[in-house]
Amino acid sequence: MDQQIGAAWQALAAELEHRLREDDPDARVQATVSVSGLLALDVRTIASRRSAARALAHSYEQRARVTCERCGEPVMVVGAGPVVTVLCSGCSDAG
Ligand SMILES: [Zn+2]
Repeated sequence: MDQQIGAAWQALAAELEHRLREDDPDARVQATVSVSGLLALDVRTIASRRSAARALAHSYEQRARVTCERCGEPVMVVGAGPVVTVLCSGCSDAG
């Protein structure tokens, strides 16, 4: 998994993969940080599960938008720029 992704987001991706494997033991989740700084989840699963898996991945991406990438605390995305950083105040103070 991508080293640039914070621990809390990696946990979200792992949880998604675990859920997908209830239906497809070979399901894979590829987690990356999108160009805008948000969690992007690519899912690989059997064709019959693909649309459901994609919808579930989307719901996890939405959760990541309000979850501190490092510690998992709930946060609001701040900043109007094209690139955002989803960190709580504690983690952003720590650098
Ligand atoms: Zn944090």
